[in-house]
Amino acid sequence: MKKVIYFLSLGLIFFACKNESADHQKEVQTYLDTYNAKYKELCAVSSEGQWSVNTHIVEGDTMNAYTSRLADETMAKFTGSKENIDKATEFLKWEKDLTPLQVKQLKKVLYLAAGNPESAEETVKELIKAGTAQTEHLYGYKFEIDGKEVTPNDIDSILAEAKDTTARRKAWESSKAIGATLKPGLINLRDLRNKVVQGLGYPDYFTYQVSDYGMKTEEMMEMLRKFNKELNPLYRELHTYLRYELAKKYGVKDVPDYIPAHWLSNRWGQDWSEMVTVEGLNLDSALKLKDAEWVAKQGEKFYVSLGFPELPKSFWDKSSLYPVAKDAGFKKNTHASAWHMDLDQDVRSLMSIVPNSQWYETVHHEYGHIYYYLSYSNPNVPYLLREGANRAYHEALGSMMGLAAMQKPFTLRSIMIMLCHSSSCSRCTITFQKIFCTKIRMQRIILGTKRLENLSETS
Ligand SMILES: [Zn+2]
Repeated sequence: MKKVIYFLSLGLIFFACKNESADHQKEVQTYLDTYNAKYKELCAVSSEGQWSVNTHIVEGDTMNAYTSRLADETMAKFTGSKENIDKATEFLKWEKDLTPLQVKQLKKVLYLAAGNPESAEETVKELIKAGTAQTEHLYGYKFEIDGKEVTPNDIDSILAEAKDTTARRKAWESSKAIGATLKPGLINLRDLRNKVVQGLGYPDYFTYQVSDYGMKTEEMMEMLRKFNKELNPLYRELHTYLRYELAKKYGVKDVPDYIPAHWLSNRWGQDWSEMVTVEGLNLDSALKLKDAEWVAKQGEKFYVSLGFPELPKSFWDKSSLYPVAKDAGFKKNTHASAWHMDLDQDVRSLMSIVPNSQWYETVHHEYGHIYYYLSYSNPNVPYLLREGANRAYHEALGSMMGLAAMQKPFTLRSIMIMLCHSSSCSRCTITFQKIFCTKIRMQRIILGTKRLENLSETS
């Protein structure tokens, strides 16, 4: 009898625990549902403000920056509120009773809060203001060569085509002259970012960013050191080969130990396409026969051919895909990016497409982000978690698709068919070295959070 009572009481404890666990889950879910709905709403308004700041930059106009700042402040007030921090902290004490999805969301609530905690309200406001001002400065900047204003696309085409190293150097230096003007703002941003995250116990902004990968700073640095070590033998081979090839191309007898930056076609040295010349295949010549709209639509066709749906109509209505006319009276961010405006179906891209191979790849890259956004925008993924596995993974996805689109089966089918008639087409495979360079780029993206080199993501 004693035994029966013992087992009965165990059963009661079990049922009591089960009930308590269900109650905890229910209470947390009610909180998360409310949080998610508000979060989505505020994200949409904040993105709209940022979109205006990035797509319509008018010298002397402060309205866009002001509206965007207000939206970002409202967002920061919500995500950084003491109420949300306290609730998420309290709820996480029930961690073992909750579902993994709930725990993940509560941790995200705290992560977001650390980016702008109420306790550092004034610094958060300063940070938002400084961030918007820096974006406007960055993309309102006038690039000049010999005193004449040029666009980033003009600079890129000089670096892609010019044989004269003096002209190349002028173009490269023009692209970098912006750096000195950005420096004070960057230092200010670095200090503000560090100060804000210290409010919730992170020693610095880098540690905060790394924690989003579920890693500690030292683990991240160790992983990057390992990447470098593993890639170094291949890198050295390619680097040596490229030094000799480029010296030949520019008629320089003494091969330099380091590759002069202006010898490369990419302003940031991200792309070593110079290394590969494929006889009978010139993507740029083929694309010159097309227009920018064709390139934009071709990207969509590529994804549809893989089984994805067409892009939403709003993508075509609301995106900013082409260069702004010189006399438009405003400028825009010329760095390509993909936007998930409302964490749902409002996806957009900001580009300045011209029909060349660089933009052809970029279009496919940005659409990679877009299709990834759309893929996880489904009822199984709460708004709080609609951001992909992590930032590096997002970038890897865009890069993988951009590179895939440059490969033989796709380029042949979409563009090269009119140029390649012979069996030499079998030599059309292009970009082994690009895959290697993408690995380097990935590391820069991760490290970029430390160095604050690039203020805009999803590029
Ligand atoms: Zn990207």
